[in-house]
Amino acid sequence: MRAYILKTIDYGDHGKILKAYTETGPISMIARGAKKMESPLRHMTQSSMLIEADLAKGELPTLKEARLLDYFPAIKDDFDKSTVLQCVNELIYVNVGEDDHERLFDFLMRFIGRLLETDAPFELLALFELKFLWFLGAGIHLKDCHLCHTKADLCYDSREGALICVNCAKDPTRIYHGKEIPALLQYYYYADLAAFRPQRPDKTDMKIVLELTDALYAMHLGYKGRAKGILKSLL
Ligand SMILES: [Zn+2]
Repeated sequence: MRAYILKTIDYGDHGKILKAYTETGPISMIARGAKKMESPLRHMTQSSMLIEADLAKGELPTLKEARLLDYFPAIKDDFDKSTVLQCVNELIYVNVGEDDHERLFDFLMRFIGRLLETDAPFELLALFELKFLWFLGAGIHLKDCHLCHTKADLCYDSREGALICVNCAKDPTRIYHGKEIPALLQYYYYADLAAFRPQRPDKTDMKIVLELTDALYAMHLGYKGRAKGILKSLL
């Protein structure tokens, strides 16, 4: 089976447990001896690698043989892109449940394909975060004002996690993000990955968007990513 490695954990002196994602869902496997210098598994049992895995049967199966399908060197060699992919790996590892895995695996592969060639990796991360939130059943309402449903003069109410129009935005204790932010969130949420075009926000707006997606994950899933903390320090 094709397995994309999300995370590895040391196992004994020389082995690793691989936490991977496949078309049928998340899977754990033991790669025995993978840390030994002479092991054929050594170079293909790292996170963010796609392998063809031949597994023994069992609750926690042993990886008998593996073939490296791709290690995405253009991402590995780029610090921003590899950090974005770590954020994605962590998002899937922690949050994925009984979802449509075939569809998510396909989306992940297409996402990595876009990440390889893009010059806007942080925007792609925002797109992944928002679409994955929807995928997990925590869809957010970004079509219009959540109170009166007008589509004009929208701001983003971060405490509500929704759009609000300027006429309804009257609570002086709240921060309403206006200007570019609602348009960016809408674009990343609804855009088709294949047709994605970078919106080129300035650095401040990009940072705000990535803070707002964090707030949405905290609100809906109680999730706070470690890799994302590193990524935000790059901005
Ligand atoms: Zn309104």
